[in-house]
Amino acid sequence: MHCSKCHRKAVTFIRYNGMYLCKEHFVEFFERRVKKEIRKQGLPKGTIAVALSGGKDSSVACYMLWKILKDHKDRKLIAITVDEGIKGYRDKTIEIARKLCNELGIEHYIISFKDEIGLTLDEISEIRGELAECTYCGVFRRYCLNKLAKEKDAKVIALGHNLDDVSQTILMNFIRNDLERMARMAPHKKIQPGYIPRIVPLRMVPEKEVTLYAYLKGFDVSEDECPYAIRAMRLLYREFLLQLEEKHPGSRHSILKSYLELEECLREKFPPAKLQPCKICNQPSSMPVCMACQLKEKLRKSKEK
Ligand SMILES: [Zn+2]
Ligand SMILES: [Zn+2]
Repeated sequence: MHCSKCHRKAVTFIRYNGMYLCKEHFVEFFERRVKKEIRKQGLPKGTIAVALSGGKDSSVACYMLWKILKDHKDRKLIAITVDEGIKGYRDKTIEIARKLCNELGIEHYIISFKDEIGLTLDEISEIRGELAECTYCGVFRRYCLNKLAKEKDAKVIALGHNLDDVSQTILMNFIRNDLERMARMAPHKKIQPGYIPRIVPLRMVPEKEVTLYAYLKGFDVSEDECPYAIRAMRLLYREFLLQLEEKHPGSRHSILKSYLELEECLREKFPPAKLQPCKICNQPSSMPVCMACQLKEKLRKSKEK
């Protein structure tokens, strides 16, 4: 098939808008949406941190921000990688992250669960009790990211979430009746003391297109999935949304659009919780003792048993 915009050979078919695109036009289509989204979400002056796991999504988010910021004198991009301590998985992606930062000339910082929490995720897995690895991982990862970004005086943290991730999260929150969590989804507009707001530059782009973009740009990406993801509820939503998209192309976009129409009402109904420094670690929290410190304590107790 030929590109719908020129005579070159198409590399992909975009089902939800019926377009065949060649490499050049796909790259243009991809970058245009990401740039538009970044403009919409806003990039403050100062240091911009990107959470770089070394997976395809965060690598592409990092590259796009680098591309946009390389001519900006008043904004500086840094990358933060959280090392959860997952043997045979994270070691590989950390290498990829390091290589990408080297090539692009981006300062790269690594923060590990072992140093911050005292345990790797593999060790947590052995004593985790009834909570899944992903619960600990999510809380500790956010803790590590915020801590390091704050130390580096970052104004915002960019996450690699794509349209599939975001529509899964919206649906999950809706089905669990957790609208408060829905109201707290990134991008964050209100600045909270001690909490670095997040932006999500890829939220308008389906996962498949991020993969294709990474491939066309020749990025080194790992195909491996996190070994603990198998227990995550998210997988069910992922499967469901892919089936839905197959039958009704454009469903993920519709889910996000519906959310965006509700966003303001949600934020009004659930205004940001008042944050205070955690009594133990000093990181911002809506409770006297933050979730990370609570989980740390839980792990300490189960280790003693
Ligand atoms: Zn073309
Ligand atoms: Zn704490």
